[in-house]
Amino acid sequence: MSELLEGQLSLLDMGPATAPVEATFPAWYTPSKSRKTANMRVLQGRHPMGMRLADSENCGSCKHMLETGTRAGNTYKKCALVPMTHGAATDIRSKWLACEKWESQ
Ligand code: SF4
Repeated sequence: MSELLEGQLSLLDMGPATAPVEATFPAWYTPSKSRKTANMRVLQGRHPMGMRLADSENCGSCKHMLETGTRAGNTYKKCALVPMTHGAATDIRSKWLACEKWESQ
């Protein structure tokens, strides 16, 4: 076993390793591995579509929520105020907390 030279640190001098911090999402949002931008916005305290959060209500009771065409019997919920793509990145959920642009139906 080699001896340490003066001034060198051993592994024991480095202290215990710290555990990585787990991200905590609010109960109204279920994170998805494929929606990294939405996940990041929620962790920053914003709506998954990028707007500021409202204090109450949810997307399902907003007049801007649209149910778009069907494909294989599925309907897709979108926000009329967000540039629409035909992909899952712009899908919204009824249970999501509303954003600052919420308006009653
Ligand atoms: S305006 Fe806001 S609250 Fe209304 S559907 Fe769009 S994202 Fe949801």
